[in-house]
Amino acid sequence: MKPVIGVLALQGDVREHVAALEAAGARPVAVRRPTELAALDGLVIPGGESTTIDKLLRIFELFDPLRAAIAAGLPVYGSCAGMILLADRVLGATHDQQTLGGLDVTVRRNAFGRQVDSFESSVEMVGVPGGPVPAAFIRAPWVEEAGPAVQVLARTRHRGAGAPEPSTGTGDVAGRIVAVRQGTLLATSFHPEITGDARVHELFVAIVKE
Ligand code: GLN
Repeated sequence: MKPVIGVLALQGDVREHVAALEAAGARPVAVRRPTELAALDGLVIPGGESTTIDKLLRIFELFDPLRAAIAAGLPVYGSCAGMILLADRVLGATHDQQTLGGLDVTVRRNAFGRQVDSFESSVEMVGVPGGPVPAAFIRAPWVEEAGPAVQVLARTRHRGAGAPEPSTGTGDVAGRIVAVRQGTLLATSFHPEITGDARVHELFVAIVKE
């Protein structure tokens, strides 16, 4: 049986995640209402704008039910803005920005600095066999601190081919934590869904099936 995996469809790159989940052997469904949560085996929170998704979660009355579902063990994969929404702590948040939480991490929003707002790279990721994963970073966060229960799955490359340029604002961009897992929560700073490589989604489908 294919697991039913929701894609939070309030804002962001919903279609790309739906396609990647299909390629990874799941049955994706768009989620906009609290009543739709109960039927899910897992959920993807897409990239987009975390402040906007946060506001829409509250307007659509999804914030509290989703927070409760995560606390009750719903597997969730957050990409970019989705990573920010899963983080317990955010640096560079707007004054009224809230997160769903669940991941014992501190993320820094827009961490890679202006000149590298967006770049493509590839990252070696624990749990993803078959070589480096192509990764698009779009005004991406990084994980600045991770608690003891958090497994670091990937970091940005060190200097050399495919490494991000040094940033001036927030420190060295090489070797930064860009993928983590804590229990059934998975998060990446980058967007694997826009590169046509479904291996990160395959990892999430495997977590859902566990
Ligand atoms: N910078 C965005 C935010 O803070 C995230 C960007 C993305 O999801 N591509 O929400």
